[in-house]
Amino acid sequence: DRAAAASAPITDGALADGTAIPLLANLGNADGAAEAVALGAEGVGLFRTEFLFLSSSQAPTVEQQREAYTKLLAAFPGKKVVVRVLDAGADKPLAFLNDAHEENPALGLRGIRALRASEDILREQLTALAEADAATQADLWVMAPMVATVEETEYFVALARDYGIKTAGVMVEVPSSALLADRVLTHADFASIGTNDLTQYTMAADRLLGSVASFQDPWHPAVLRLIREVGDAGRANGKPVGICGEAAADPLLAVVLVGLGATSLSMAPTALADVRATLLQHTLDQACVIASAALAASDAASARVAAQEAAARP
Ligand code: PEP
Ligand code: MG
Repeated sequence: DRAAAASAPITDGALADGTAIPLLANLGNADGAAEAVALGAEGVGLFRTEFLFLSSSQAPTVEQQREAYTKLLAAFPGKKVVVRVLDAGADKPLAFLNDAHEENPALGLRGIRALRASEDILREQLTALAEADAATQADLWVMAPMVATVEETEYFVALARDYGIKTAGVMVEVPSSALLADRVLTHADFASIGTNDLTQYTMAADRLLGSVASFQDPWHPAVLRLIREVGDAGRANGKPVGICGEAAADPLLAVVLVGLGATSLSMAPTALADVRATLLQHTLDQACVIASAALAASDAASARVAAQEAAARP
């Protein structure tokens, strides 16, 4: 339970059989790094860079970005830090990036699409990241948001390599890239599943709209099947598959995600203790059985119940 989890010594994330499942932090600002480490983060699984851009009417300079990324990477010597390049769109409009009104911003020029349309911004961000990497000891991974095609994957990975980024991957948060994950992962070094957007796009329900909030449930077996596709592709290609959406912070769902093939989980640092404690109660074989029970359900509520029942079996 929560109290026991909070008082237990902090160990690295692992299953009952010793399988390591690195537990990482989602951060929106380098200021949160020390607290994340104190709460047991083994690194950063999602660093959202939007904060650097949203507060100003102009793009931050390479120097400003280098300073922010250096501060982040310096807090995690020897640890993995996954930075996501700017995820902007008409839902988070930036005067210097996209000003066109869109009827359906979630389906518009956002994420890697918007960066491609303003490639200078992406090039400057990669420049700053490579410079910060050279100045620090962290293990920097860089990923692109909202990748929908194999071609976008090839584009981003090739560009990142041009700037000396050693580990370049993509977020899988659109069903098309989950369905073609085997091909995406022949080009990308890793995938990180953003379950918030993957659920939104699978269920065709705006994640910001209260009237359809009941659809925004990552336990839905349709979402779980897509995650399984990515997990299978990761295994087949020998590539890591992380999870960085809210789903990873739900302890039982975290077990399901590992059973579906996730190799690391990233979440709000306050969720780390409970997830760590729950993972320790199940072996990888058990996680696969629990995941199969959830996958066999027809809706989110019954998937949750099926997983609870499977987890309670000895
Ligand atoms: C996601 O979509 O699950 C994700 C992690 O990205 P964001 O919430 O920033 O869109
Ligand atoms: Mg997202």
